Amino acid sequence: MNSIKNSPFFYKIITSLLYGSITRKYAIRYIENKIAKNFGSSNNQKASSKKNKRLQYEKKIMALSIIKTLDRSIERNNLDRNIAQEVLKLWANALTGDRLKNKEVKKFYIKNKSMPPFMLVISPGHGCNLRCRGCYASSKSNGQKLPWNVLDRLISDAKKLWDIKLIVFSGGEPFYYNSEDKGILDIAKKYKDCLFLAFSNGTLLNKRLSQEIAECKNITPAFSVEGLEEETNRIRGEGVFEKVLGSMELMKKAGIPFGISVTVNSDNYNKVLKDKFLDFFFHQMGVFYAFYFQYLPIGRALDFKYMPSSMQRVDFWSKIWRQIENKGLFLIDFWNHGPLVGGCISAGREGGYLYIDWNGKVMPCVFMPYSIGNIYRMYKEGKTLNHLWEHPFLAKIRNWQKNYGFGKEANFGNNLLRPCPYRDHHLEFLKWIKELKTEPEDESASKILSDCFYHKKMISYGKKLANLFDPVWEEKYLK
Ligand code: SF4
Repeated sequence: MNSIKNSPFFYKIITSLLYGSITRKYAIRYIENKIAKNFGSSNNQKASSKKNKRLQYEKKIMALSIIKTLDRSIERNNLDRNIAQEVLKLWANALTGDRLKNKEVKKFYIKNKSMPPFMLVISPGHGCNLRCRGCYASSKSNGQKLPWNVLDRLISDAKKLWDIKLIVFSGGEPFYYNSEDKGILDIAKKYKDCLFLAFSNGTLLNKRLSQEIAECKNITPAFSVEGLEEETNRIRGEGVFEKVLGSMELMKKAGIPFGISVTVNSDNYNKVLKDKFLDFFFHQMGVFYAFYFQYLPIGRALDFKYMPSSMQRVDFWSKIWRQIENKGLFLIDFWNHGPLVGGCISAGREGGYLYIDWNGKVMPCVFMPYSIGNIYRMYKEGKTLNHLWEHPFLAKIRNWQKNYGFGKEANFGNNLLRPCPYRDHHLEFLKWIKELKTEPEDESASKILSDCFYHKKMISYGKKLANLFDPVWEEKYLK
């Protein structure tokens, strides 16, 4: 089956079926039935009773939401057929490809009894044309950046050593990045067998760039919004919302899949899952997916008043699942969807990722701004990404992830609804940071280390969250 899946003809046939006006209905129904069967349905109690039912249900409605998105986009003519074919192939390859066929991955696996991470998040440049309130990266207009040859080498090494197929560009603003007259689209053109996601403020795209993105076929932008016009402009600046909508129109016209990225804060948490918000973006603007990141006090504005409370987080969890199921939308809640991915995915975990910033600093996670090494130093000392992966701080986190619940059946692990060592188990994080050598990414991360008030607030948040989320875990996932 794998050899069929690797064949370009397989995706050609699938796309032909999906784009045929009569065949699409049957193809979609066939895939939906397959999903229901795989993840258990009321007609298949035997299969679903063997596994955690809640988790099976979550996987099922998430998979269905992706299929519904595909169906809608083709029906509305929002997805170019050639792009769809390429994205389906790359996505399937990234998720199900046999990476052990790669000699280096096999060596890694034999040595470490673990697969290497399957994704890198890279912020190639600190530069950005906006100054958003609370930017986690505290971006500037003339920020640092990775020179082209370093960025290129990093991606080439990650492919060679770890068979990385998914790369996320974060910021600064990825489309602001330029080195030797090259940008992130040149990377996408060079690494055609990788799928790229770029978190963008959506203000720098134009017709020429949208055509280039369409030609690449392997990059999807996710535009940041904080709500509708008023909320977005309040945080990102006057006129930004309109520019973002302009970029969305360009994507739609070119048939490029694109998403939104929402920083959920204590003000907007109640609005960004409302029908009005979702209908506008998904049905009017043609958005394919939405990432929700709950505001975390790191970076430019360390202000606890914007962080959603533990109560708001739990409320968000139940509302987002309701909307995914009822509306068939592909919505991803970065923290609350811990059970779907086995908990925290940081520190180069199997099925997880590592983060590299504009200074070449390597960190376990975008939301844990403490560096364990630097790729410039790594190259100078003749080392590789494998050496960095072995760093004790990362090893500690990976070990914690395993003990906490990654790779275990729900009944034998801890509550994956609160998977984050930084946000939900801050005391744990503090112990590691005192014991093991790391370097704060910036001034803000450095100040935090000696800020007792900050730590108290984080620890108290974690305790309150446990009180609220543990009964939900017991009731929904363990019974
Ligand atoms: S450290 Fe926290 S934010 Fe980062 S991947 Fe783990 S759970 Fe997510």
